[in-house]
Amino acid sequence: MVTCAECNPMLYEDNILKSPQDIIKKFDGRCPECNRKLSFEAKAVSIGPYDEKSEK
Ligand SMILES: [Zn+2]
Repeated sequence: MVTCAECNPMLYEDNILKSPQDIIKKFDGRCPECNRKLSFEAKAVSIGPYDEKSEK
């Protein structure tokens, strides 16, 4: 999930199949709304098999 720390849009909507890095590149690393730096939360994206041993 790519988000803006300021206005927190969900920029991945039309780009759900792309990686967060690609989306950030698409917007040149800045939020199209407020022009602040974008960030992404990797935890919102499932990457590979879930490792149950890493929890608890
Ligand atoms: Zn913003």
